[in-house]
Amino acid sequence: MDSQTLETFLDKIFALQKRKSNELRIEPIHNRKLRIHKLREWIHVNRTAIQEAMYVDFKKHPLETDGIELLNVLAEIKNTLSHLDDWAAPKKVDAPLTMLGTRSFIQYEPRGVCLVLAPWNYPFLLCVGPMVSALAAGNTVILKPSELTPHVSAVIKRMSDEIFDPAVVSTFEGGVEVSQHLLRLPFDHIFFTGSPTVGKIVMKAAADNLASVTLELGGKSPSIITRTANLADAAERTAAAKFVNNGQTCVAPDYILIDQGIAETFIPLLIGQIEKLFTENDQAFEVSEHYCRIINDKNFLRVQGLLDEAIAQGAQVRYGGSSDRPSRFFHPTILSNLSLTSRIMKEEIFGPILPIVTYDNLGRAIAFVNDMPKPLALYIFSTSKKEQSNILQETSSGGVCINDSAIHFLHHNLPFGGVNNSGIGKSHGYYGFLAFSNEKPVLRQRKGLTTIKTFYPPYTKRSQKLMEWFLKLF
Ligand code: NAD
Repeated sequence: MDSQTLETFLDKIFALQKRKSNELRIEPIHNRKLRIHKLREWIHVNRTAIQEAMYVDFKKHPLETDGIELLNVLAEIKNTLSHLDDWAAPKKVDAPLTMLGTRSFIQYEPRGVCLVLAPWNYPFLLCVGPMVSALAAGNTVILKPSELTPHVSAVIKRMSDEIFDPAVVSTFEGGVEVSQHLLRLPFDHIFFTGSPTVGKIVMKAAADNLASVTLELGGKSPSIITRTANLADAAERTAAAKFVNNGQTCVAPDYILIDQGIAETFIPLLIGQIEKLFTENDQAFEVSEHYCRIINDKNFLRVQGLLDEAIAQGAQVRYGGSSDRPSRFFHPTILSNLSLTSRIMKEEIFGPILPIVTYDNLGRAIAFVNDMPKPLALYIFSTSKKEQSNILQETSSGGVCINDSAIHFLHHNLPFGGVNNSGIGKSHGYYGFLAFSNEKPVLRQRKGLTTIKTFYPPYTKRSQKLMEWFLKLF
């Protein structure tokens, strides 16, 4: 399809969804659930096709696809189906003193036509997960999966073509030019997952139509390991969260800040855990089925560039460091002795390199984190409640795990999202439903006497007296 034809087609689908979105407002919740049920069945039937597409796109192990991509979408579906009636029901609110006589409630209305722009790193989960929330809230959705995982994107397109009316869900594959055209359309809500750089482009485009946005972005998520931490545990959880998906996880620990007195004990434990988790029987990482690849050549060169520059600036390779461009293999790599002004300590790594930075006092580690843009996640490994609460209170981040890494993403009763540079708005479960809803306040007045009449003009001596009395109450 040439770009003119594509644009005309996109405009046509948008207009179709716009009309349909008005119909969806008055639909029973049951219809929303039916759509989500259909999706659930489709995922179960097409599980192998999704696994195969993931494997072709970046050699993701089928069990990893099951465990991270499918299980989480299915859990989101189950949670949504179980609670949607409650979430969508109008919520009564109490009248304050100034509103005595009124009755009020919050009605959750669909935002309308929504756009979901997804990244490549968890290409099914991060496209279909937000779609579940959008459908639960009664919206129509246009999906734009990532062009970097073409096989998974094709599966997502097939899913929407097979089970949804295009006036409700429609998928557009393609690259940046497709996103750019979509971003010109007057969507009611845009849900974007990706880098802070593109997040800013999305927010600027949304401003032209004053579309609301949810921006799920990235950044450098630190892991602070204190002297009181259980180091074996910290090593295992860090290895799993950092090197799964080859470090291409938004909530992966980006770098470690560790007490200088324990760093040399921690590094061998971490290496041991990386080998235990990602290889079998001492096989090389190159042939391990449990270790996936960098997504494309561009990202491979980016990660290699970060490593080369860090080494040139004095970083010491404590583990790994090798790579193979044709197969986009990158060995798990641990660095120490970093220059804090090197790019690897400034930019999100999004690859299998873990810098380890030591600190001599916890206050300095906290100050280091606070000097950086607010991260998507922050991890604390410590057995001291005091240390935990100090770090929690003195830093700002999208989310926190204490004595683990990354798994808060999987907990659908917690809001997930970033703060400022790492994102705007929250998603998952009830919070995802809210992101795609307008919380409409409705106030019903009664006839006759209500407090508000006290403040009507004319402003007589009597009303002055009443006002004096009122003001004293507050
Ligand atoms: P990206 O920002 O490059 O791309 C994301 C989407 O935006 C893609 O669909 C792409 O087609 C589109 N896009 C790219 N350039 C565009 C442009 N100029 N105009 C309009 N659209 C454009 O991100 P990515 O490389 O796919 O993913 C990696 C980033 O995503 C990392 O920063 C990571 O931390 C972040 N991420 C965040 C989360 C989260 O939940 N917060 C999850 C996964 C990834």
